[in-house]
Amino acid sequence: MNRDEMKIPLIEYFASFEGEGLMVGTPTIFVRVYGCPVKCKWCDTPESWELASLGQDYSIQEILDIVNKLSSENGGIKRVSITGGEPLLYPQEILELTKVLQNHDYYVNLETSGTLFNFPVFKQFNTLSMDIKTPSSGVVLTQDMIKSITEGYFKSNLYLKVVISSQEDLDWLEQTFPKILTSDSTCKPLSLTPCVPPDVLYSLEDQENGTDKADIIGVARQGKSIMDLVWRWNKSYNIVVIPQIHKIYSFQ
Ligand code: SF4
Repeated sequence: MNRDEMKIPLIEYFASFEGEGLMVGTPTIFVRVYGCPVKCKWCDTPESWELASLGQDYSIQEILDIVNKLSSENGGIKRVSITGGEPLLYPQEILELTKVLQNHDYYVNLETSGTLFNFPVFKQFNTLSMDIKTPSSGVVLTQDMIKSITEGYFKSNLYLKVVISSQEDLDWLEQTFPKILTSDSTCKPLSLTPCVPPDVLYSLEDQENGTDKADIIGVARQGKSIMDLVWRWNKSYNIVVIPQIHKIYSFQ
């Protein structure tokens, strides 16, 4: 199929800030594709899972026009994150879209689940942000997946992040992480992301209604456990702890 015939199903597109990971806080245009087979228990976009009538197919030119418009309306943002859903469900289309965006001077990030791997596609991106799924997500990582994550880490511009939602996640990570990276993997930090669970969130509406759902004690306990882990690993790995700011500040 040639580039002009390609279509990508999108659920939404918008300008905001990167919400988690090493580029947190960076102004970004998000292009969210439809469809995800992973179905994490704490997914914040479950509406992106199913290929249903909600999604609409866009040509690559239409997506470029959308990105150009969002950029010009929002201070000339030059970073685009292709997210989902799982963008690697459409590898050729995503590859072509990325080339077109880069030809128009955009810096393109791929946000991917760490369950699908496509190394030729990975190479095209300026950066990749990949999850290591913990037990609380409901995803079971196979040995092959762990091997592929390691390969991706060393062969592409891949940054890893881990959403931590429980002590079980931390215990699992402590056992699994040394299988993924060796202790000389200090060039790129691993981002630990304490999950902000839905019952901790409070929206602007909640605040206006005086409904404060913040479970500050629960979050603080998790923070202490994460801190203990980072101190244990500090000599061997480059770890940073970065919260999910899009949830805390109700960014889109
Ligand atoms: S991989 Fe991402 S989009 Fe898919 S279910 Fe998990 S968090 Fe949601």
